[in-house]
Amino acid sequence: MAPRVGVLALQGDVVEHVRVLRSLGADASAVKTRAELDAVRGLIVPGGESTTVIRLLDRFGLSEPLRTRVECGMPFWGTCMGMIVAAHDVAGLEQKTLDLLDVTVRRNAFGRQIASAEVPLAIPVLGTDPFPGVFIRAPWVERSGPGVEVLATLAGHPVFVRQGNVMGTSFHPELTNDVRLHAYFLGMLLPYGEGEASGAGDATGPVGAPGVASGAGGMAGDIGSPDSRDSGVIPRSSGSRPRS
Ligand code: GLN
Repeated sequence: MAPRVGVLALQGDVVEHVRVLRSLGADASAVKTRAELDAVRGLIVPGGESTTVIRLLDRFGLSEPLRTRVECGMPFWGTCMGMIVAAHDVAGLEQKTLDLLDVTVRRNAFGRQIASAEVPLAIPVLGTDPFPGVFIRAPWVERSGPGVEVLATLAGHPVFVRQGNVMGTSFHPELTNDVRLHAYFLGMLLPYGEGEASGAGDATGPVGAPGVASGAGGMAGDIGSPDSRDSGVIPRSSGSRPRS
């Protein structure tokens, strides 16, 4: 049976993720409501604007149910903004997060050099072909806890991390034609049983259910044009980061 995967659809490049997941045979759908969240076995939070999405998650009553599902083992992948939302905290900013991944992220970390760029990344878990990393005002991981695996770096900073069932990428694989990271994420769904999909109950186990990483076959291909529909980033407190 095709794995049921959701893409949080409060903001950001939802359609692109859904398209890639469907091309890999997944039963992918947009998630905007609690009922839709309960129906999926894995969730991607796409790129966008992290402060907006955190607010919307609270407004739609999704923050706590989402946290509970992930703590119970549901695979979660945050791309760019999604990784910020999942982080433990945000360097230099008083910004609420879901605290699903034991990392401190720095928003807009790469500054002007690669504010928006495509960079070939070495990602050994995906094979030897470099992965086209599309960075759009991307965060990097500034601190990672002991349970966090660093699976790719750029300029010495982690840009792909995983802690059990939770992964985060600074970049946007959905804006390329390389499906290997989506296939890798779908591989994490395999050990997560169908029975888990209908509500997580009250269990609050730690994040860290082992996922089975299936290195998918390489399909490095042409790059779609990255867009930058995420809005500008405005620090909410007097952090040290420049506006971009
Ligand atoms: N700069 C955005 C933020 O901090 C993230 C950018 C993105 O998701 N492409 O929320």
